[in-house]
Amino acid sequence: MIRILGAPAALLLAAFGLAAPAAAQLEPGAAPATPGSAASGIDGQPADDAWDFEEGDDAWDFEDDEEGDDAWSFGDDEEDVETWGALLRDQAADLAFFTGFAALVLVGFFRKSVWMKYVTLAAAVGYLGFTKSQLISVVNVYGMMTGNMPVFRYSLAWYLFAGFTVVTTVLWGRLYCGRVCAFGALTQLMDRVVPARLRVETPPWLERRAAWIKYGLLAATLLYFLGTADIPAYRFVEPFWMFTRRGSTAMWIGLAALLAATVFVRNLYCRFLCPVGAFLGLLSKLTVFRIKRWKECDTCKICEKACEWGAIRGPQIVMTECVRCDDCERLYADVKKCPHWLLLLRAKRRQRRAAPAIPVRPIAST
Ligand code: SF4
Ligand code: SF4
Ligand code: SF4
Repeated sequence: MIRILGAPAALLLAAFGLAAPAAAQLEPGAAPATPGSAASGIDGQPADDAWDFEEGDDAWDFEDDEEGDDAWSFGDDEEDVETWGALLRDQAADLAFFTGFAALVLVGFFRKSVWMKYVTLAAAVGYLGFTKSQLISVVNVYGMMTGNMPVFRYSLAWYLFAGFTVVTTVLWGRLYCGRVCAFGALTQLMDRVVPARLRVETPPWLERRAAWIKYGLLAATLLYFLGTADIPAYRFVEPFWMFTRRGSTAMWIGLAALLAATVFVRNLYCRFLCPVGAFLGLLSKLTVFRIKRWKECDTCKICEKACEWGAIRGPQIVMTECVRCDDCERLYADVKKCPHWLLLLRAKRRQRRAAPAIPVRPIAST
């Protein structure tokens, strides 16, 4: 598979591997806050160490859990009972901030506003990325499969975030990838400042094949987790630790190689390597509200060329790859660019020209 993507991706995957020495200590922020903790992350983690970087290799107490059926020790948290009022008060700021962010995502999406999309992307990087280190990780997918989820009452904002991701994916597709994920937002913003002449366009045949790599990585990672419970291995396939700003030199070198490759191949990690993108892609097969197409799309290639995610193949939108970036939807509605409207306009003009002139009758005088 890696051979299909070519040398740059092989280098990157190797870089991820190298970038994860045994000494690296970081875990995704899915664990809940405990009552009375100083947690402030929307996942209930302290904002500056949402992935428990300093906790050591076993930040989620996998090894302490002799029974193995409560690997994240969520059960222990349930002993301290707080009222819902107190719990809501403690988590109100995170709930409010994420609600505001979600509103920005949805308003920008429904208005198909370009500037709102970029404000959203910047907010995703600044707020969900560098402030909260809150991203959906392949570890969360594993947690969902095995029922190891954060305790609801202590992780309300995390559930709001995860619920928003799942619900929007089922309703519209990978909106999470298009606007919410901090890493995807970062690479999309990069894409806007990188000179176009540096860009290497991936040939469609290669794009199609390389897109399968992320599904392979998703399957391999989940099987590995199921077989070994070696959760920290997630860092071999995800660069999301970067938002904690804590990594070994090798990890930073690996990340730099990935971002440098992204300069030449846009959205490289998202399109070809991300297991979470693969999972959301599978989920988006259920999409209720799909992108509309005209019959002219059967032959027109304008949207296909405009799609930066390789998600349009002829008349078909490939929902698993589409991140609802709006680019093709804006073209769909553009009366000056979309052939559908131009043909309609031409037909109307022809009709008007062909219509017989209505004779004007003189008004009879009395
Ligand atoms: S594909 Fe992965 S990294 Fe890219 S936006 Fe989606 S979840 Fe984030
Ligand atoms: S420009 Fe219009 S006709 Fe062409 S592919 Fe896009 S929506 Fe279809
Ligand atoms: S251009 Fe259209 S098909 Fe391509 S990712 Fe954006 S919304 Fe999806």
